[in-house]
Amino acid sequence: MDAAQLKQLELDKRYIRMAIIWAENSYCHRRKVGALIVKEKMIISDGYNGTPSGFENVCEDENNLTKPYVLHAEANAITKIARSNNSSDGATMYVTAAPCIECAKLIIQAGIKRVIYSEKYRLEDGINLLKRAGIEVLYLEPDKFGTEI
Ligand SMILES: [Zn+2]
Repeated sequence: MDAAQLKQLELDKRYIRMAIIWAENSYCHRRKVGALIVKEKMIISDGYNGTPSGFENVCEDENNLTKPYVLHAEANAITKIARSNNSSDGATMYVTAAPCIECAKLIIQAGIKRVIYSEKYRLEDGINLLKRAGIEVLYLEPDKFGTEI
């Protein structure tokens, strides 16, 4: 690894730690996921899993199942950009969990070029789709982040 790659890895670790902290905003109980979109060293969007704007802040139904209209963190971060003057084209996404296939489709269409994630999922179809689209995908193990925050 050269100096530039090492520096990028340090930045990646720092942003993924921020995404982990951001996930704490989620009011979902079963699973909390956070996502950040970074472009040219600026965080241009953020998201966490939750219900759409204007809906009650409850993700689970009476059987403790996730409601079908809960948006994933990635979808929230990408759609937030649609309401701003920013563009996700060429950006990097930091997300605390491996993207599902639905979010992978959105990530591809949003022009995101790199995806860094920190938690594996049993289904890898989302990750595989991203790779097929030529997106750089990097898994960072949380216990290898080191102690500095
Ligand atoms: Zn998803």
